[in-house]
Amino acid sequence: AKGRGRARLEQFNDELHARAQKRVQIESDLRAALRASQLFVEYQPQVRLKDGRVVGVEALVRWRHPRHGIIPPGDFISVAEDCGLIIKVGRQVLQESCRQLAEWTKLMPGRTLAMTVNVSPRQIMEPAFVGELRQILADANIDPATLCLELTENVMMSATEEVARLLNEIRQLGVFIAIDDFGTEHSSLSRLRDMPAEVLKIDRSFIDGLSSEPGDTAIVSSILSLAYAMGKHTIAEGVEKREQAAMLLRMGCEVAQGYFFSRPVAAEQIVPMLSKALWQ
Ligand code: C2E
Ligand code: CA
Ligand code: CA
Ligand code: CA
Repeated sequence: AKGRGRARLEQFNDELHARAQKRVQIESDLRAALRASQLFVEYQPQVRLKDGRVVGVEALVRWRHPRHGIIPPGDFISVAEDCGLIIKVGRQVLQESCRQLAEWTKLMPGRTLAMTVNVSPRQIMEPAFVGELRQILADANIDPATLCLELTENVMMSATEEVARLLNEIRQLGVFIAIDDFGTEHSSLSRLRDMPAEVLKIDRSFIDGLSSEPGDTAIVSSILSLAYAMGKHTIAEGVEKREQAAMLLRMGCEVAQGYFFSRPVAAEQIVPMLSKALWQ
C-alpha cells in the first residue's frame, strides 16, 4: 500500500510539473504573440429582443498560434493574468476594438453601436489604466458613451475604496460599466445599489435552464425585476434557442446574445448584420 501511495504521489508530482511547464510555455509564446500580432478579436452581436436589431457587440480575444492554431481565451487569459501579460493583452484588445468601432461608426452615420470589452481585475488595477483608456478613446475618436467595460462580479464586489474610485473615474469619462456573469459569484445587493454599473449580464448558466428548470426561470425573472427597479439595463448571454429568446422578451429582458443569433465572428462579418434583424 505504501508503494502504491508513493507511485500516486509521483504521478501527482509529474502532473503538477507538466502543468507548470505548460504554463511557462504559454507565457513565453504569449510574449512572442504580442510582438508578432498573433492576437485578434472576434465580435459577437448583441441583439435588441423587441426588433432583432444589432445594438452592440462584445469583443472576444483569440490567439492565432503558429503551431497550435486558434487558441480560445479560456486557455491563456488566466496565465496572462498570473504573469502580468494581461495588461498588454488587454491594451491591445481595447485599442483594436475601439479602432474597429470607429470604422463601423463611419460606415453608418446616425446609428450608434455599442462596443463591449472584457477587462481583467489586474488590468484595471494597473495605475496607468484610466489614463490609457482616455488616450485610446481620443486616438480612436469615438464617443466614450459607446464603450462599455465588462468586469466580473468578484472585482465589482471587492468593496475596496480603490476599486470604487477607479470605477467612478471610468464613469466620469463617460464609459459604461457592465457586471459580467451576474448571479454566479458573490453579489451583495446592497453593494449593487452603490455600484456605478449600468448593465447586468445574466450568466449563461441561468439561460440554459430557462423554461426547463423552474429554479432558473425564477432566478432570471428576479434579476430582471431587480435590474428594472434599480434602473439598470440587462443583457442575457448564451441564448442558444428561439424559445429562450422568446421567453426573455416576454420577461422584459432588453438585449441578448448567444449562438442562436450569431457566434462571435470576424469584424467583416458584422457589417451585413447591421442592416437586418437577427430574429423576429
Ligand atoms: P465571457 O465574457 O463570459 O464571454 C462569453 C463566452 O461565451 C465567449 O467564450 C463566447 O464565445 C461564449 N458564448 C457566446 N454565446 C454562447 C452560447 O450561446 N453558448 C455557449 N455555450 N457559449 C457562448 P470565449 O470567446 O471562449 O471567451 C471565454 C472567456 O474569456 C470570456 O467569457 C471572458 O471571460 C474571457 N475573455 C475573452 N476575451 C477577453 C479579453 O479580451 N480580455 C479578458 N480579460 N477576458 C476575455
Ligand atoms: Ca464578457
Ligand atoms: Ca459572461
Ligand atoms: Ca462567463
